[in-house]
Amino acid sequence: MAANEKDKFGETMKLVERAKEDIYFAQRDRELMEKLRNQLKKVEDTGTEIHCPKCHGLLETYTFQGFTLDRCSDCGGIWMDKGELEGVLSKVTRGPLGAWLDKLAAKE
Ligand SMILES: [Zn+2]
Repeated sequence: MAANEKDKFGETMKLVERAKEDIYFAQRDRELMEKLRNQLKKVEDTGTEIHCPKCHGLLETYTFQGFTLDRCSDCGGIWMDKGELEGVLSKVTRGPLGAWLDKLAAKE
């Protein structure tokens, strides 16, 4: 094996290692998301149909750590009252929960 080919091989191995790390983090992420997702309790039969202000998809009501939030079934947007948002934010400003909420709020 020529020297430059060895270098290439080394680079490839580095990429493989990095990919493994990514997979590992993604896996941990999934477990964390799953754990947190379990805290989301869907409220069935709220009696009213609320539509997303953004895309007019149907909003589903969830409770999360004592707060109520509406999540759009179409765009994944989360809507909540101002007071509720502040309450949730004060709980999640630190730690992985904040990052998770960002992801939850992002379009999947
Ligand atoms: Zn929407």
